[in-house]
Amino acid sequence: MMQNVLKARVKSKAAPIAPPQFYWRKIGGDYLISNDFGCHAWLDAAAFKRFRAGQTDKKDKVFEELVSKGFIRNMLDFSDLASKWAGKNSHLTVGPGLHIFVMTLRCNHKCLYCQSGAIGQSAKGTDMNWPTAKKSVDFAFQTTAPGLTIEFQGGEPLLNWEVLKKTIIYARKKEKLSGKPLSLALVSNFSVMTVEKAQFLLENEISICTSLDGPVDLHNKNRIYPRGNSALEARKWLRYFTLRNAKQAPGYRIFKPSALLTVSRYSLGRHKEIIDEYACLGLEDVFIRPLSPIGYARNSWGVIGYTAEEFTAFYRESLEYMLKLNRTGVPVREKMAVMLLEKIIGFRDSGYLDMRCPCGATVGQIAYNHNGDIYTCDEGRMVAWEGDELFKIGNVFKDSYKKAVSCPTAKSCLASSELHLQPECSRCVYSPYCGVCPVYNYEAQGSLWGNMLTNGRCALMKGIFGILFSKLRNSKDREILQKWVKN
Ligand code: SF4
Ligand code: SF4
Repeated sequence: MMQNVLKARVKSKAAPIAPPQFYWRKIGGDYLISNDFGCHAWLDAAAFKRFRAGQTDKKDKVFEELVSKGFIRNMLDFSDLASKWAGKNSHLTVGPGLHIFVMTLRCNHKCLYCQSGAIGQSAKGTDMNWPTAKKSVDFAFQTTAPGLTIEFQGGEPLLNWEVLKKTIIYARKKEKLSGKPLSLALVSNFSVMTVEKAQFLLENEISICTSLDGPVDLHNKNRIYPRGNSALEARKWLRYFTLRNAKQAPGYRIFKPSALLTVSRYSLGRHKEIIDEYACLGLEDVFIRPLSPIGYARNSWGVIGYTAEEFTAFYRESLEYMLKLNRTGVPVREKMAVMLLEKIIGFRDSGYLDMRCPCGATVGQIAYNHNGDIYTCDEGRMVAWEGDELFKIGNVFKDSYKKAVSCPTAKSCLASSELHLQPECSRCVYSPYCGVCPVYNYEAQGSLWGNMLTNGRCALMKGIFGILFSKLRNSKDREILQKWVKN
């Protein structure tokens, strides 16, 4: 027995074309293989069998491709492969770049899937006051990242306008003093936007993002606004900011507004109308985001939720429709695809914090609640809103930056979202491009680690990756997808 093992070892050592560690998955009749450098290739069943046995023949038509992609152990081009790995993992040496400020929990909408823990517009004691906002800006500027983004969220952040305004002015001043480049972003439902507010936001170079769930009836079904028409407000102000962007007033940068699509059960089957709505408004990016069973969405899951298979089918139909529109000259891109493809074919980190390894909790983002409590991320803050402080990493008044970012909670999120330590992920062909979410795992499965074999988010990601890799095999689709990544 022992002799056989030794013989096998000698044989494998001697094999000139042995494969290094790789991941694989059978899709259709073929095999997709990938490695930690982020390279991938397709092999038919016979070629895969030879490859796995270290018997790929040099005359094999895939041999050159396997060499160039780091799949032949003793023919690795280390400088090329190391630069691919480093590009894909550039976030590892940086620090939290995204700082989410919850300016208020108050909101005048009652969206079916709201994750933000919003409460009624007239509620008291849930606005961020000026001392907390100032202290939070000071805290955020201590990041080790070379630059930072402060994103103002809520509730509806415009309901706390005076503090928001003061915070923006202070943050811009701090940017000048520190020399650290600052981006400012606002996520708003636009319901209390005015021309004066818009002008102030433009002059201070704030990028604007809203929610847009599709045509008027669908949007309003998801995003309930008892005092008005949510869809019409979104359309009106998206047009306003798009127009200003096109004119590019002198003296300051004006960003193109963006919108987020949250897919509810009501969206299924309506992909064409939704994408047409985006295209009509001149929005080139559609970010097809699945629901998570967190916050209100968990309570109404039976009504608005869906299975991973249902979402995957919707995603496929949407992507195929967008590819079709691209062929007719309509420039529309699916944002999730773009961010994943940046890693798959661009070999760079797209900044998508939930799909990093380890994930962005504390090392990529920090969420600041209205009262100065800080969390690993906005989703972690949401768990606290439900009464569980597991993801709290400190308070801007009581804790130092160093203490907060190196606390056990932050480390636990890092460890549990490191894919090489996740039993299922460590063998998964999609792991070089994927990420797990400890908050999702905790909420859906009761532990930071979760169990990927029965994890809804994992099933959904497997579906999306399967679609993207299959599209990349088709030369016409690949050409369009490559352009999406370049733009
Ligand atoms: S825990 Fe989840 S939501 Fe929070 S940063 Fe990580 S992946 Fe994102
Ligand atoms: S989460 Fe699922 S799809 Fe992603 S690497 Fe892990 S097992 Fe693969």
